[in-house]
Amino acid sequence: MAKMKPWTYSHLDSFETCPKRYYHTRVAYDVKEPESEHIKWGNSVHKAFEENVSLNKPFPEEMSAFSNIGRQLRELPGVKHCEMKMAIDRAFKPVEWFSKTAWSRGIADLLVETPKKVLLIDYKTGKRKVSEQLTLYALYAFATYPTVNEVESGFIWLKEKKIDKETYQRKDVPELWKPFLTRASKLERAFQEDQWPARPSGLCRGWCPCTECPHWERKK
Ligand code: SF4
Repeated sequence: MAKMKPWTYSHLDSFETCPKRYYHTRVAYDVKEPESEHIKWGNSVHKAFEENVSLNKPFPEEMSAFSNIGRQLRELPGVKHCEMKMAIDRAFKPVEWFSKTAWSRGIADLLVETPKKVLLIDYKTGKRKVSEQLTLYALYAFATYPTVNEVESGFIWLKEKKIDKETYQRKDVPELWKPFLTRASKLERAFQEDQWPARPSGLCRGWCPCTECPHWERKK
């Protein structure tokens, strides 16, 4: 039986999309997920934002359209932490990233810390969609900064030049955890029972790397 590592938002997402695919690409590692052009671009954009916000390094030519966003982020008041790693244990207490008791963890693209409030920013290079990722990161932030009572979050959709903002209050933390606990318990059960059923979807039509799966088809 495979040992479960600390889960992340992306683990939940990937497991729910197709447990079989999740197992092969993120548990057994017997299928490699190829790095698409979109993923490569996303990684370069994240790196460029990190260097721009933390070191004031100009964006490369092909990303010059992001300079204004970078400037606005640099001018925000507060202590800026780029690629901020946050991990918690089962009691929702903050722990080191590689701690043996780490239960869940995530890396915020940018966290801005002020005495009363934390701001979380996530750069998105894909299509705008609804995501609970920053709700989970807000929960990590409440655990990491025990004196902070408010967390603001913002997805920056770079293609569409839109920001989706949300504000979270500490009093709502137990309620906010509920859906993640349900989702995480399903993932934990899959590890305990070693059950990874296939969940066919449009991904099977050539987009999934699990070519040995009976549901897999060539791209048309
Ligand atoms: S081909 Fe489809 S059903 Fe099979 S592992 Fe991939 S996504 Fe899941």
